[in-house]
Amino acid sequence: MVSFLKKLIGSRNDRLLKQYRKQVGKINGLEPQISALSDAELAAKTQEFRDRYAQGTSLDDLLPEAFAVVREGGKRVFGMRHFDSQMLGGIALHSGKIAEMRTGEGKTLMATLPVYLNAIAGKGVHVVTVNDYLARRDAQWMGRLYGFLGMTVGVVVPQQPNEEKMASYAADITYGTNNEFGFDYLRDNMEYRLEDRRQRGLFYAIVDEVDSILIDEARTPLIISGQAEDHTELYIKMNAVPPMLTRMASEPKPQEPEPEGDFWVDEKSQQVYLSEAGHEHAEEILARLEILPAGESLYEPRHIALMHHLMVALRANNLFFRDQQYVVQDGEIVIVDEFTGRLMVGRRWSDGLHQAVEAKEGVRIQNENQTLASITFQNYFRMYAKLGGMTGTADTEAYEFQEIYSLETVIIPTNRPMVRKDQNDQVFKTTPEKYNAILLDIRDCHERGQPVLVGTTSIENSELLAGLLKEAKLPHEVLNAKQHAREAEIVADAGKPGHITIATNMAGRGTDIVLGGSVEKQVDAIHADAALSEAEKTQRIDAIRAAWKPVNEEVKAAGGLRIIGTERHESRRIDNQLRGRAGRQGDPGSSRFYLSLEDSLMRIFAGDRVRAIMERLKLPEGEPIEAGVVSRSIETAQRKVEGRNFDIRKQLLEYDDVSNDQRKVLYAQRNDVLEASSVGETIGNLRDAAIADLVHAHLPAGSVEEQWDVPGLQTVLAADWQLDLPLVEMVEKDGNLTEEDVLKIVQQAAADVYSAKIALVGEESWSQFERSVMLQSIDTAWREHLSSLDFLRQGIHLRGYAQKNPKQEYKREAFELFSGMLDRIRDDVVKLLMTVRVQSAEQVEEATEAEQAQNQVQNVQYHHSDYEEALASAATNSPPADDTVRNALPKVGRNDPCPCGSGKKYKQCHGKLS
Ligand code: ADP
Repeated sequence: MVSFLKKLIGSRNDRLLKQYRKQVGKINGLEPQISALSDAELAAKTQEFRDRYAQGTSLDDLLPEAFAVVREGGKRVFGMRHFDSQMLGGIALHSGKIAEMRTGEGKTLMATLPVYLNAIAGKGVHVVTVNDYLARRDAQWMGRLYGFLGMTVGVVVPQQPNEEKMASYAADITYGTNNEFGFDYLRDNMEYRLEDRRQRGLFYAIVDEVDSILIDEARTPLIISGQAEDHTELYIKMNAVPPMLTRMASEPKPQEPEPEGDFWVDEKSQQVYLSEAGHEHAEEILARLEILPAGESLYEPRHIALMHHLMVALRANNLFFRDQQYVVQDGEIVIVDEFTGRLMVGRRWSDGLHQAVEAKEGVRIQNENQTLASITFQNYFRMYAKLGGMTGTADTEAYEFQEIYSLETVIIPTNRPMVRKDQNDQVFKTTPEKYNAILLDIRDCHERGQPVLVGTTSIENSELLAGLLKEAKLPHEVLNAKQHAREAEIVADAGKPGHITIATNMAGRGTDIVLGGSVEKQVDAIHADAALSEAEKTQRIDAIRAAWKPVNEEVKAAGGLRIIGTERHESRRIDNQLRGRAGRQGDPGSSRFYLSLEDSLMRIFAGDRVRAIMERLKLPEGEPIEAGVVSRSIETAQRKVEGRNFDIRKQLLEYDDVSNDQRKVLYAQRNDVLEASSVGETIGNLRDAAIADLVHAHLPAGSVEEQWDVPGLQTVLAADWQLDLPLVEMVEKDGNLTEEDVLKIVQQAAADVYSAKIALVGEESWSQFERSVMLQSIDTAWREHLSSLDFLRQGIHLRGYAQKNPKQEYKREAFELFSGMLDRIRDDVVKLLMTVRVQSAEQVEEATEAEQAQNQVQNVQYHHSDYEEALASAATNSPPADDTVRNALPKVGRNDPCPCGSGKKYKQCHGKLS
């Protein structure tokens, strides 16, 4: 089946390439003609393309010429002529697909083709890189070509002054990281003035290292948080409840009489559960304490937050004890590390647990951070009208790209044939044997002058290996994940004879390893040196290249770059990224993975099978097994893990889709408010609708007069709307009045009051005020809604025992919450505007400013943080994740062996407080 599918996919790939090759033929045919143009004529092509586009020529039709122009520009600016393979990839990117292209094939240069073409449309093209260093580097480097062709380039980076950022977005082409683009989108949707927004729509994006960004990083959303709302009082009130509830002696069991009491405690999962009876009892108490309106249920969507507060208070009172889990120090709750006993100053439990413990201990309750806005990369990138991606490794995830992003993957053939030798895995029984073999291999390469890149799966292992190399007196460099610039330097040297480089994860390094070392930096420095004449520059560069040539030959003779994997990663893609560093542009190279039966992946998924094979072969001590069948069973294990991770991401997305749809609706409305010249008409409509709801609540449509509650309506209008209307009298006097007549009377009266206000303060000021009130209401409501959704997501499993599907329940209630929120916004805005007493324009203008100031949140923070486990656990209907049990793996006991295969107990490994 798989091979059948592969064949099918393969042939689809071939068909696409055939189509693209025809285009490349056209582009190549244009070369003589384009080459004959002067620099100025070449640059003038850009305007010509823009004009033709404006007159209706499509980008597709412009493609051959535009690509030919870019290639010519590349030749003149960089002395690099886009390979035909880069043209193929460029077409794939322009068609909104993912171009899988091996490392060293020149993705950076390839991207210039579709970027230039699409920038002709003048709507902005975004180039997304994995880090700021690469964004700056590529913008500067490729910017020379765009500039030469008359296009502008900008970069967006964190903490950039707003004007600069806007200029960057206004440029034809904008480089930046996925985080920065995503956060700017969210920030734009929090602005109060149209002119403060940064982006100008999401037209076309090319995502570099698309697998890292859309798959690895997509597991966690972007979050903007800040301090706003204060729930101190509720925490204190709620803290009185747990002592009034009784703990059951044991957990209730089906078919057995329920033990006396209200709740039971599950120490293992660190959860407290209420019984049905306990639930009712709790509602009574809450009503008595006036926390919950009498007769209302905690299960109603609008009381979700209360439910959450209650559960946290129960946990704080029954699972967390002073001088065990925490100490009280200088009026603060300090967490004690469960295993080391160390104080973890500054750390706080999440989800309000910390505040609940603070309430219990009677110390000051610290203000919570609130989510102000959030989005996942999946949902951000799906908003672009067109999306293209490039990477060396997409094939293994092609299904996910298709399924989630509707992105098709096209495998671009290499410019020169690949000659890297990928050797079979060697599997050892124990870790020491494995490392021994790795050391021998490294030493051998080093002594023969062959550069080696050693990949590890964790920082821990890379340190371990570095220690071994140090002991063995083998000089080496370790790639550190955070120092991108320094990293580029290490990578530039990694191809020098006998160099040893250790790296943890080769994803998105963006700099390829050149045999004999890279001299590009030196060359660039010479180019940039204004003190040198062109002739001097050429001379120096030639000298550098001439000196490099024999070194390059030497490394080639030694076998090119050697790749050593010290463990297999959960995902084949990451292994391929590592392998892909060798064999660039037809270079020689080789790779081998060394494994042991003690590796995590082997222990969990493939160990037994491989061990059985090893035993059958009766291998002597220290002797590895190396066979295709072993490599295949490891691959099967990896596929299993990949499949599971895909499911987790998909689950996550299903939950996120709900808030995504709502976010789109809300942001669209918010933008309407921001963009409209006046919101007066909208407010009029909202007011009419709100009044209609109110009137119909008292005078149901189609009802007879006996069913009316006119006195009730009159009272509410007076109290809530400041509208004194003698409705009772009117109805008594005129027996012919229908409920529709009454509605018209009220609406008209409200409109009159409203007009009087406008007349008093002037249209201009009033209009500003209206807009400000609306934005403020929308933002406050949305923030509250986001945290309700959070609580809902974490609490939805509670519905599990009512035999309900949590995901369906989540969707239903989220929808209810959302429509409730929209109604609330409407009523708040309308009532506020109706009841506000105004005297002058100045007073209203002051109020407008105050509104906006009030909405300012403090301590705004940007996170791209881990919260996927919380979702995963909600999705699998298990107890909600908290700080102690965070794992997407099946539920394990604290004392069980950790499923990662470390051999440690779960509570000392992945179940540990992070
Ligand atoms: P990738 O991201 O695909 O691994 P890079 O974009 O880093 O590759 O490019 C690898 C190297 O190949 C760079 O040094 C670049 O200058 C060089 N290169 C790319 N395209 C060409 C070309 N058409 N002609 C000559 N050199 C090229």
